[in-house]
Amino acid sequence: MAVKQDLRTPIVSVMGHVDHGKTTLLDRIRGSTVAEGEAGAITQHIGATEVPIDTIVSKCGNPALRDKFMVPGLLFIDTPGHHAFTSLRSRGGALADLAIVIVDINEGFMPQTIESLQILKRFKTPFVVVANKIDRIHGWEPQKNAPFIVSYNKQSERVKTELDRKFYEVVGELYNAGFNSERHDRVSDFQRNIGIIPISAVTGEGIADVLMVLLGLAQRFLEGNLHYDASVPGVGTVLEVKEEKGLGATIDVILYDGNLKKGDMIVVGSLGKPLHTKVRALLKPRPLTEIKSEEKFQQVQSVTAAIGVKISAPNLDSALAGSPVRVVTPETVDAISEEILNELEEVQIDTDALGITIKADTIGSLEALVNELKKEKIPIRKATVGDISQRDVVEVAAIEDPFYNVIIGFNVKVLPDAKDKVQSTEIKLFLSDVIYRLIDDYKDWAKEQKELTEKEMTEHITKPGRFQILPNCTFRQSKPAVVGVKIIGGVVRTNVDVTTADGTVVGKVKGLQLRGDNISEAKVGMEVAVALEGPTVGRQIKEEDTLFVNVPERHAKVLENEIFDSLKADELETLEAFLEIKRKGNPFWAK
Ligand code: GDP
Repeated sequence: MAVKQDLRTPIVSVMGHVDHGKTTLLDRIRGSTVAEGEAGAITQHIGATEVPIDTIVSKCGNPALRDKFMVPGLLFIDTPGHHAFTSLRSRGGALADLAIVIVDINEGFMPQTIESLQILKRFKTPFVVVANKIDRIHGWEPQKNAPFIVSYNKQSERVKTELDRKFYEVVGELYNAGFNSERHDRVSDFQRNIGIIPISAVTGEGIADVLMVLLGLAQRFLEGNLHYDASVPGVGTVLEVKEEKGLGATIDVILYDGNLKKGDMIVVGSLGKPLHTKVRALLKPRPLTEIKSEEKFQQVQSVTAAIGVKISAPNLDSALAGSPVRVVTPETVDAISEEILNELEEVQIDTDALGITIKADTIGSLEALVNELKKEKIPIRKATVGDISQRDVVEVAAIEDPFYNVIIGFNVKVLPDAKDKVQSTEIKLFLSDVIYRLIDDYKDWAKEQKELTEKEMTEHITKPGRFQILPNCTFRQSKPAVVGVKIIGGVVRTNVDVTTADGTVVGKVKGLQLRGDNISEAKVGMEVAVALEGPTVGRQIKEEDTLFVNVPERHAKVLENEIFDSLKADELETLEAFLEIKRKGNPFWAK
């Protein structure tokens, strides 16, 4: 079998936790092949790097493999992270055909590792796991750019054992995430088992294995999806909308089907109706060898899938990253615009009447963020694509519940006029380009807010309290009555009204004393002297009576409905006893 002309290059995306080595791996895949000076070893695209099959098999040192594979090579998207993965769609699915999940073998799984796996599961994308940074294992003898097994066999027994131990921790974590896995050279059926490749993105060990396994996955899983027709009108996805000096707004596009020529009419998804324009120039990076040139880009007349290319054309300002790009003719333009519009509208987000407001840079990332927030049961009022504008701020500021005076922005800017506005409001902004960080920060803030509100409420609210008048401790009969009491539950403060055990209000606490000192509150277990304005001992109250703090109905509601969870056991007990007394007379009291 040889390379079939109608199979396009599979598109590969690298995902994983921050600092686990995504960028270094991509650099290594680009760099090692360039450094070795192999002619035509890689092709730099806009936003992507292509490694041709010949380069891959020569790196693996087995040219006989050349004929086993039908795909022409691998196209790596240069932007790592699951942000890129979820933002870049093709007809509702992921743009990337394959993925690499990278995990630092010394650190193990982290939140974004798990998030990556969940995303891949959702999109049913074949992937391989790489266990990176094996060179950090104590005693490791690096074998530059060697295939994994060659390098492994050169290590001492102690180092091998240590690698195996760490490796099986990764296997265990993958199992917990719902995947069976094995070391890549031991996997016989990639449909059943995920292959894990131990590598070092720094020394290049195992990189050849990564490329080979990806080719294997492409061959095994994708053949049916990689057929394309170079003669049909081009179909692609906008990676990024970029302002370029002298060109104005341009779009970086990954074309995954058909062809695209200078002069073609294209339709691109935009914030409103899809925009129509005519390709003025198709640009690709100038090869590094032509360093004398001032120009960053060189023009090409036409391109075919799969390729990353920059399109220069009028009116691209409102193009939307992550949205489709399609070549049209005067006959197809209306139908295709309609299709694109429908595709964009499919990313409909169900919103709640009251909730937070979210903004993201692309449709895909908006959807991913909404998904994650929903999992956390965080209500969303509005979710839209674009930078944070003055209008967003005005809308959010008008919400009365301070819990929802919140805007979460993923990979977006705060526009200058909105910035001024934010400063004059109480709005809380969360900005990041890491989804889990946004969610964690928001959750921490919400928890803190809740505690603060509870604290504020507690300070202004009459808490329940129950106390008993001690025998032989009447210091004064009346005006005010002064008696020794024991606090049985809750807290008694000065200036609260007190009731008898049948709910009748009999007076007010004028003062509290502990061993001769004035205090403002007495808690459960304390024995104190209480001055009561109102009753006379022996008439309305007598020794050994149990009295209650009279919690006003409105406060009782707050206690029962809003800060119930923060009350201590004795406070709860006291509140319940008091409610029972009140509800004997009126079952709907404080309801
Ligand atoms: P990213 O955030 O996932 O893109 O991670 P980077 O590629 O930026 O890597 C984070 C840090 O880990 C950098 O300091 C890298 O030099 C280092 N690093 C990445 N891969 C390896 C590796 O294989 N071995 C060692 N020793 N360090 C690595």
